[in-house]
Amino acid sequence: MATIFTRIASGEIPSYKVAEDENYYAFLDINPLAKGHTLVIPKHTEDDYIFHLDEATYAGLWAFARKVAIALKEAVPCKRVGVCVLGMEVPHTHIHLVPLQSEGDLNFTNKRVVVTEEENRAIAASILKAYEKI
Ligand code: AMP
Repeated sequence: MATIFTRIASGEIPSYKVAEDENYYAFLDINPLAKGHTLVIPKHTEDDYIFHLDEATYAGLWAFARKVAIALKEAVPCKRVGVCVLGMEVPHTHIHLVPLQSEGDLNFTNKRVVVTEEENRAIAASILKAYEKI
């Protein structure tokens, strides 16, 4: 059975898409640590552990995540885009990209921020716009 993230990448389950290419998909986290918190996934493998990916998929995932992070920083002003790989909840490899103002913002035990649908739509659209210029 397809993972929830495969179903998101295929459009079966809605998401706030921020970037996409043939092999990878990026979308806003539904329960974000900060506005613009983004997840980056490979489309064609559901392996739940990033270090199980074959070398090409692994390298491609990070290259795609780099572009998304550049676009994210442009769209959501922040000091840094923090990167984290957990995979404790959803069994489909994904990289978290989190806009940071300080070190403490990348703490997954922090209270999550509430973002309206309208804000999420606007944030996703500006990240996508910045991504398309890279
Ligand atoms: P983890 O597997 O521990 O890296 O965490 C999974 C992340 O996926 C969490 O931050 C969730 O908020 C996020 N998440 C789970 N379901 C969805 C969804 N349908 N759309 C967007 N993000 C999701």
